This record gives sequence, C-alpha cells and structure tokens, in this order.
Amino acid sequence: KSKVVINAAGPWSDEIRGQINAPTRLRKLRGSHLIFSRERLPLKHAVTLLHPKDKRAMFAIPWEGVSLIGTTDLDHKYSLSSGEPFTSAEEIEYILAAGNSTFPSLTLKPEDVISSFSGLRPVINTGIADPSKESRAHVVWDEDGLITITGGKLTTFRIMAEQALSAASKYLRLPFDPSKKIRYFNSLPSVESLKLAGDSALYMLGRYGEETEQVLNAALKNENLQIANLPNLWSELRWVARNGAVEHLDDLLLRRVRLGMQLPAGGDELLPRIRVICQPELGWSDKKWEQEESRYRQIYTRAYAPTPIGFK
Ligand SMILES: Cc1cc2nc3c(=O)[nH]c(=O)nc-3n(C[C@H](O)[C@H](O)[C@H](O)COP(=O)(O)OP(=O)(O)OC[C@H]3O[C@@H](n4cnc5c(N)ncnc54)[C@H](O)[C@@H]3O)c2cc1C
Repeated sequence: KSKVVINAAGPWSDEIRGQINAPTRLRKLRGSHLIFSRERLPLKHAVTLLHPKDKRAMFAIPWEGVSLIGTTDLDHKYSLSSGEPFTSAEEIEYILAAGNSTFPSLTLKPEDVISSFSGLRPVINTGIADPSKESRAHVVWDEDGLITITGGKLTTFRIMAEQALSAASKYLRLPFDPSKKIRYFNSLPSVESLKLAGDSALYMLGRYGEETEQVLNAALKNENLQIANLPNLWSELRWVARNGAVEHLDDLLLRRVRLGMQLPAGGDELLPRIRVICQPELGWSDKKWEQEESRYRQIYTRAYAPTPIGFK
C-alpha cells in the first residue's frame, strides 16, 4: 500500500475520494462553447463580452484557425459515467444570443455552428444558488494520505503543484523542497525559421513547443502542409499517433489535436487520409480502425456536433 497518493483528477476527484468513502464536496459546473468558421466569425483578437440577459462575462476567441464563443456556467446534473458532457439546446440559444448582441451585423444562426464542446469545472460546493457565485479558488485536502488538489485555474498550475507536493511531503522519506526551482520553459525557434505557410508556425510552436522541429522532421512527403484552411499540419497527426498515448480515435481527433471540432462533420471527409497516416503508426488492424471510427462518430454526435444529441 502506498503511503501517499495525489489525486489530481479534476472533475473526477470526488470519484477517487469515494474510494476511501470520503463525502462528495465538488459541484460540477458545465461550461459550453460553440465553434464557427473564421469566415463566419472573423476575429483578430479575443473579445470579452457580457451576456445581454444576465451580464455574465463571456468571450469570443480566435482559436486554431476557427473562432469560438463561450462559456456557460451550469450545474451538470448527469453522472460522469453517463458520457462526455454536451451542450444543451438552451445553451446553444444562450451562446448565440451573446454572439449576436456583440456582433449584431453577423446574425449568427444555429446553421453557422461547426461544432460544440463542453467541459466541467470542479468547484467547491457551498450550496449557493447561483453557480457563477461559487469560488474558483483551488483547494488541497489531505484525507489520510489521499491528497486531493482541485479547483483553481490553468494559470495557477505552478502554485497548485507546489502545494500538493508540500502536502505529500510529510509522508515521504525525502521531503520536497519548494525553494529549489527549475526552468519549465526554454526559448523556442523563431516563427520565421520554421518556413511554414500562414499561421502554422505560431500554432505548431504553441502546441508542440520544443518538440516542434522533431514533429516536422518526422513528416513523410507532403505532410508538412496545412490541413484544409487550418494552421494544423498533416505531420502532427503522424506525431501524435506515434507519441500521444492514443487509446481511441477520439483521443486523437478531439484531445491530442482538435480537428474533430475545427472541421465540419468532425472531419468526416478527411478520415481516409487520416487513416493512411495514423493506422500504421497506431498498429491498429482494419477491424480495430473501423470500430474506432464508429465509436468516434457516436461520441461526436453525442457531445461535439453542432446540435449534440447527448445520452439519448
Ligand atoms: C469550461 C471551462 C472553462 C475554463 N476556463 C478557464 C480559463 O479561462 N482560464 C483558466 O486558467 N482556467 C480555466 N478553466 C480551468 C482549467 O481548465 C482547469 O483549472 C485545469 O484544467 C485543471 O487542471 P487539472 O490538471 O487539475 O485537471 P484536469 O485538466 O481536469 O485533468 C484531470 C485529468 O485527470 C484524468 N483522470 C480522471 N480520473 C482519473 C483516474 N482515475 N486515473 C487517471 N487519470 C484520471 C482526466 O482524464 C484528466 O486528464 C476552465 C475549465 C472549464 C471546464
């Protein structure tokens, strides 16, 4: 038996705590987004906006060759085992209303939505009625050696990690010394040095950082070219299939890269070429690939389509 376990399972943290019979403490708040083509929602930079109905702060962001508007902030009433969270019809209406009040000349319609996606925020439950009034601060709980670190923000990752390790330290033979610092980020090659078209260099450096040149060098013929009108390159599919610990096609297309959300119909038209590149890298048989395509389409229809059907 391990003396200490760090539970950094995000919205699943209560499920892990349940294994030691700890009572639930989290409120899972769903945040949903709609994605539009850059042509339909042209944005030069991120825009903060207030929803016309409840004045909640929202944003419209140029993101990986497309534009997105988000988010909502609602109690997620489903159990995590039911499947991936999805954007409800009410949320679609709410997000479109925010877009149209900020960009009235665009008249955004449901047909303009390329895809949708939702995430769950693990927020400490105080029982307050308005979800948006719950604190977003992170917490560290030590429950008999199960250290849970959750809540917070992407931007607070370093301090969260230090606090989790400090809490774990008392169980360890060699205590953790937070005063010792190492560099997390090193300087990157310049955008110009990569000699890629459009926004691809900036995108690739943002996503792959110091590994960018290795990704480009691993490409076969014509793979350092853009996919559709996106900054993504075919070579990154080879790279993530080879190195991304991909278990399922949805890991590849929705999480390692986001092509399933950036392209219409989950990238259906491009699946044949994606298969040529990725199937050999993944070592999947034809049967496995076909099973994965059918699983991927089901997940897409349930949770990422412009009007997702959810768990019906
Ligand atoms: C809609 C939304 C909008 C947000 N907006 C912002 C923002 O604008 N700015 C900002 O800074 N932050 C934002 N956040 C918060 C940010 O996403 C989180 O703070 C961050 O993702 C937390 O990182 P984490 O590693 O703690 O948890 P997560 O990113 O949730 O990762 C938890 C991981 O644990 C894995 N896991 C679960 N169970 C197990 C298990 N049993 N075994 C192994 N692995 C497991 C999961 O697969 C997952 O990969 C937002 C979050 C959401 C949902």
